[in-house]
Amino acid sequence: MTKGWTKSDWRAKPRIQMPDYPDQAALNAVEAQLAKYPPLVFAGEARKLKKQLALAAEGKAFLLQGGDCAESFAEFSADNIRDTFRVMLQMAVVLTYGAKVPVIKVGRMAGQFAKPRSAPTEVIDGVEMPSYKGDIINGFEATPEARVADPQRMLQAYTQAAASLNLLRAFSTGGFADIHRVHAWTLGFAEHDKAERYRELSNRISDALDFMNAAGVNADTAHTLSAVDFYTSHEALLLEYEEALCRVDSITGQNVAGSGHMIWIGDRTRQPDGAHVEFCRGVLNPIGLKCGPSTTAEDLKVLMAKLNPQNEAGRLTLIARFGAGKVGDHLPRLIKTVQAEGANVVWSCDPMHGNTIKSSSGYKTRPFDSVLREVREFFAIHKAEGTIPGGVHFEMTGKDVTECTGGLRAVTDEDLSDRYHTACDPRLNASQSLELAFLVAEELTA
Ligand code: PEP
Ligand code: MN
Repeated sequence: MTKGWTKSDWRAKPRIQMPDYPDQAALNAVEAQLAKYPPLVFAGEARKLKKQLALAAEGKAFLLQGGDCAESFAEFSADNIRDTFRVMLQMAVVLTYGAKVPVIKVGRMAGQFAKPRSAPTEVIDGVEMPSYKGDIINGFEATPEARVADPQRMLQAYTQAAASLNLLRAFSTGGFADIHRVHAWTLGFAEHDKAERYRELSNRISDALDFMNAAGVNADTAHTLSAVDFYTSHEALLLEYEEALCRVDSITGQNVAGSGHMIWIGDRTRQPDGAHVEFCRGVLNPIGLKCGPSTTAEDLKVLMAKLNPQNEAGRLTLIARFGAGKVGDHLPRLIKTVQAEGANVVWSCDPMHGNTIKSSSGYKTRPFDSVLREVREFFAIHKAEGTIPGGVHFEMTGKDVTECTGGLRAVTDEDLSDRYHTACDPRLNASQSLELAFLVAEELTA
């Protein structure tokens, strides 16, 4: 319990990256309405996730966090949710086999709507307008009118998040997640001409499943083979929305963010005395903290003390995002800070946000090889330091988009225009995501 904390304390702190709403009365009305709605997730679920993350901190579980950079209203469909969920389950099976520990599945889903941006305004076709900040805040359309922050969007985001969670809960337990089905899809991937390298591992998984089946361990006898725990997460950027969905846990009396199981603080909004840290420190949920190259040892020390004063295992996940070639400059010094403080953290690797480049065709992209290189550097450094690589964090989709270059189906710069659908940063497509899971599994077995 965070003594003396209230869910509106963030309002007295410096806030950045949040919109200025032109109509205060309309904003107040939306906040009052959301505050009456049911929470999207429950305290017991957030606590369960925290327990599982505590195992990841010790190397007894592994975190797989993934999904869109920004969920959008226009792309909302059952098929999109199903496809991202499916590829995450496929990745989880491969990683479970590689790591030989349970994989904790956390979607960037059902709430990942608000985006920090590098500049508050942008010029499009000679017209200056506010930057797009995610569908929960303003419209993507490139007109100054569409870019005005509209609080009604929070209600639509809530509704979409509720419907997404409803579907995810059904997929998790309704038979869709049966491990045999999930693995059958992966065998399809491994049949690709260029997937030879992954065929052996997927055949070994088939053998393991056949053996378990023969031994009487199958979906009928073992619940964990037919159902999964699937959690949601998002960046807690729009604090009016977060506060309105904050609830008191009836069992412990603690405050809980009802907007998603895990919330994280972005690399741009982690000021120790800022509004975002103030909000997150008071809720019981697992908290992620993005750590980029500008994270100082001193800041990290203060942030760990503020966000996890009891040093509770599973409470804090440090999500390292430095960029390929730069992990060695930053991760060892932050690992030393964590060790010096005796802090309990999960180390996760986000190999996306330090590897965004502009392609020759003009699209924002990420080369698959840079993503992989950052993952490998992350694992190598943990090995050298004797610390535990606890998870990975990807921007990905189950669709066959062309947003990141490379992978075994070799998306090129020229291909990017074919199916570039992201509302914000470029995502790995289904094939690239699964391929990466195989490569991470190799790191975990190395
Ligand atoms: C993100 O995760 O989409 C993001 C903006 O990341 P970061 O805060 O690490 O830049
Ligand atoms: Mn992003």
